[in-house]
Amino acid sequence: MEEGPAEEFDAIAVGSGSVYAVVEAIIEGNPRARIALIDKDPPGGICLTRGCIPSKMLLYPADVVRLIERASEFGIHATLEEVSFPTVMRRMRARIDPDIERIRQEFTTSSNLAYFREAASFVAPFTLALGGRRIRSARIFIGAGSQPTIPLIPGLAESHFLTSDTVLDLTELPRRLAIVGGGYIACEYAHFFAAMGSKVTVLGRNRRLLPREEPEVSAEVTRAFLTRLRVWTNCEVERVERTAQGETRLTVRDRSGAGDPRSLEVDELLLAVGREPTTGILHPERSGVLTDEKGWIRVNAHLETSQPGIWALGDAIGEHLYKHKANYDASILVRNALRGDRIAVDYHAVPHAVFTEPEVAGVGLGEAAALAEVGPDRLLVGRCEFAETAKGQAMGLTSGFAKVLVEKGTLRILGAHLVGPHASLLVQEVVTLLNTPDRSAKPIIDGMHIHPALSEVVDWAFDRLEPWTPSKKEDAPATPAGGPFAG
Ligand SMILES: Cc1cc2nc3c(=O)[nH]c(=O)nc-3n(C[C@H](O)[C@H](O)[C@H](O)COP(=O)(O)OP(=O)(O)OC[C@H]3O[C@@H](n4cnc5c(N)ncnc54)[C@H](O)[C@@H]3O)c2cc1C
Repeated sequence: MEEGPAEEFDAIAVGSGSVYAVVEAIIEGNPRARIALIDKDPPGGICLTRGCIPSKMLLYPADVVRLIERASEFGIHATLEEVSFPTVMRRMRARIDPDIERIRQEFTTSSNLAYFREAASFVAPFTLALGGRRIRSARIFIGAGSQPTIPLIPGLAESHFLTSDTVLDLTELPRRLAIVGGGYIACEYAHFFAAMGSKVTVLGRNRRLLPREEPEVSAEVTRAFLTRLRVWTNCEVERVERTAQGETRLTVRDRSGAGDPRSLEVDELLLAVGREPTTGILHPERSGVLTDEKGWIRVNAHLETSQPGIWALGDAIGEHLYKHKANYDASILVRNALRGDRIAVDYHAVPHAVFTEPEVAGVGLGEAAALAEVGPDRLLVGRCEFAETAKGQAMGLTSGFAKVLVEKGTLRILGAHLVGPHASLLVQEVVTLLNTPDRSAKPIIDGMHIHPALSEVVDWAFDRLEPWTPSKKEDAPATPAGGPFAG
């Protein structure tokens, strides 16, 4: 195998998600270009096939469940009679499968593309091996994404478990589900399965859920979760085993050392402990492409790897693993690699959201980082509760807030953090201002916001800027009664 000269292409793309924008731009510039497009998984990338889109197709019905449950607060006597999990799953597939098929058709019928559904590995500089053949190009674009991390837990390999890739194949609702992990994928699936009717236990290693969020944001989500599911934080899954009854048994220990290990029996186990590089398959080092100590591909500010002619983008470079960031990278790559520009990527305002109930969104620096950047004398903090706004009151909100961080004097926005309905939409005006030359909060402070809309929560947070004071930050109440095994 892999004998003979390698087949030459004008360009090679690894991955078929965001990197495809680069492929399209090459073809637009040269309609005769021959490009090898490689993806070992269904075409379209992680976002479409097993990430953002399918998960959000599932999360919206979960939000509907939570709204119906609150209907009587508004004098509407609706009862939730049944949730048809198979229908919810089928609806998700009905959204993504036709798109995947359309993309497959596009890839296989294009005269510009040689589409390979194979795992590719570099075997020499600029040369990849896949499915018994070798291909070569002086221009290679790596959009190889990331993959779920499988933790080293004794017994796990012999047990059955799901990841965010395989959970989408479920056709029956697990009665009891353990989710190992406390980040956004774990929390989004916890919200989904709990709303569908599973008895969910989230097992996080960190002291709080969503550890990258502001502590008070984590606390808000945890408080809401504790009314619907179990949250065990600061814990370690020591062992996984299959019982004689076909259940999965987890042995879980408090990481602080308190108490005896506890055991938990569930019908399904979902692992969501993080994402890792896919370079263990690709071996970019064989082509002179350096990776960091974790295996993420190293690029400079122009998205060039250490090997001239080879570029990387998106999750593969290990920073801000979001689809909008991968798309942004692709737009920069098109300009730098194909149009001769030298534009540096700018990640100072990469927004993010967690589509739980309540929803979370943020952009820019957190309070600790803002403090480190401007110092205590120059930091202003503004906060407004959703419940203070007329729209929030109409929606019966009793929790949720916006917190904004601004530099004194210049009114330069440093960061914004929201937890509450439509947080992902509400943060957007801050993202926009963070992309202006002076990043000033003045347009929000001086401008008008529609009354009575939820956007007043952002407006009023900026209207109430006060000097930062050291205050004891509320920690997440994952362990409200003490001890990690609350709920
Ligand atoms: C459950 C989940 C929910 C998410 N939700 C959101 C969200 O709400 N919002 C958001 O912004 N982001 C979300 N993301 C993240 C988002 O999906 C990714 O950031 C984005 O898809 C990365 O795009 P990419 O172009 O870097 O890689 P992609 O093109 O999407 O993936 C790379 C592809 O390359 C393939 N590949 C890798 N190595 C090789 C190889 N050696 N040979 C052949 N093929 C290879 C992979 O199998 C994969 O199909 C979510 C992710 C997950 C898992």
